[in-house]
Amino acid sequence: MVNLLDFDREGLAAYCEQLGEKRFRATQLFRWIHQKGAADFDAMSDLAKSLRDKLRGVAGVTGLPVASEHTSGDGTVKWLFDVGGGNAVETVFIPEDDRGTLCISSQAGCAVGCRFCSTGHQGFSRNLTTGEILAQLWHAEHTLRRRLGLREGERAITNVVMMGMGEPLQNYAALVPALRTMLDDHGYGLSRRRVTVSTSGVVPMIDRLREDCPVALAVSLHAPSDALRDALVPLNRKYPLAELLAACRRYLDAAPRDFITFEYCMLDGVNDSDAQAHELAALVTDRHTGVSCKLNLIPFNPFPESGLTRSPNERVQAFAHILQAAGIVTTVRKTRGDDIAAACGQLAGEVQDRTRVGERMTRAPIRVVPRRSGAPAGRQERNA
Ligand code: SAH
Ligand code: SF4
Repeated sequence: MVNLLDFDREGLAAYCEQLGEKRFRATQLFRWIHQKGAADFDAMSDLAKSLRDKLRGVAGVTGLPVASEHTSGDGTVKWLFDVGGGNAVETVFIPEDDRGTLCISSQAGCAVGCRFCSTGHQGFSRNLTTGEILAQLWHAEHTLRRRLGLREGERAITNVVMMGMGEPLQNYAALVPALRTMLDDHGYGLSRRRVTVSTSGVVPMIDRLREDCPVALAVSLHAPSDALRDALVPLNRKYPLAELLAACRRYLDAAPRDFITFEYCMLDGVNDSDAQAHELAALVTDRHTGVSCKLNLIPFNPFPESGLTRSPNERVQAFAHILQAAGIVTTVRKTRGDDIAAACGQLAGEVQDRTRVGERMTRAPIRVVPRRSGAPAGRQERNA
C-alpha cells in the first residue's frame, strides 16, 4: 500500500501520472487530504471516479495510531504516536492567545546524544518517513479543528517547530517533502517564517536547507566555547562553533527572517555563569564570527537520568541581562506542559535503541576538555 501522506504535491502529481491520471488531479487529492483531513476516497466527492477507483486497494491515507493523549492544565496537548517496532514518538500542541504551535518529532530517538536531553539518553532507533512526520500535523490539525469547532478555512495550527524527538537535519530526505507540504497553499499554507527547523548543528545540511527549503532556523548552541559544547552536544566535535556560525551566516541570505534563533539550555553550574554570558555575547556579536541572532534561553527541564539541574531563575535573569546589555535580543522560554512531561527535552516516547548511544551516556559530571588550538577535535578526544 502506498501511503499518500508520504508525498508532497509534486510527488503526488508524479504518482498520479504513474496511474495514468492528469497531474492537476493530484492537487485536488492533496487538498482533500491535507486541507479537509479526508482519508476515505469515497468522501472525496469532486475527485474523478476513475482516479478514486485506481487508488482503492493500492493506496491509502494512513495516519499514525495514537497510543495516548494528555492535556495539561495550561491547555498543552501531548500525543504519543505508535510508529511500530516498539517505538513511539511524541507531538505537542502549545496554544497561545495569538497562535497555535505544533512541536513535531522527526526521528524515533536521536543519535546526537546531547547530555541534557531525554531523547538523547534513549539512543536512536530509526528515521521517521515523510508520512510519519506529516501524520503528526495531519492528526493534530484535524482533531483540534473538530474539537475547537473551527469553520472550514480556520486553522488550529499556525506554527510548526521541528523541536520534538530527533535531529531533523539527520533525516533530511524525509524532512524536506514534509516541510514543502506544510508551506504549500494547497496543503497547510504556513508561511516560511512560521515553520522552524531546530538543529544541533549539522553544518552541511544547513547549507542544503538554504537551497532546498529555507524556513526559519533555530540552532541549539548551549555553550559559548568548543570545549564545553563538545561535552554537551557531541556533534560539535565534527562541526565546531566557527563552522556552525559560518553556516548560520550563509543561511541568513535565504532565511525568511533576518536573524537566526539560538537556543541555550540553562544548566546549573555548567553553562550559566556571568563569564559564560559575556563569552557568548562576544561570540555572537564578533565582527568576523558573529551572526545576526536572537537568543532563547530554555530553563533546563530535568529528567531522572540526566544528573543535571536547572539554573535558578535569578541566574537565568542575570544571564539574560548580560546578553541584553550587549544588544542581543534575549528571551526566556516559558515552560509549558511540564505537568504532562511535554516540555522541551522531556519528550521520551519509547525507543528501541539500536545504537547504544543511550547506554554510553552517563550521569558523571560534565568534563570539559580544552582543545589545543588548531588541533582537530577527533585527535583531542583520543588524547584526553
Ligand atoms: N534535535 C534538535 C531539535 C529537537 S530538541 C535540536 O537539538 O535542536 C529541541 C530543543 O530542546 C533543543 O534546543 C534542545 O537543545 C532543547 N532541549 C533538549 N533537552 C532539553 C531539556 N532537558 N531541557 C530544556 N531544553 C532541552
Ligand atoms: Fe537529539 Fe536535539 Fe536531543 Fe540533542 S537535543 S539529543 S540533537 S533531540
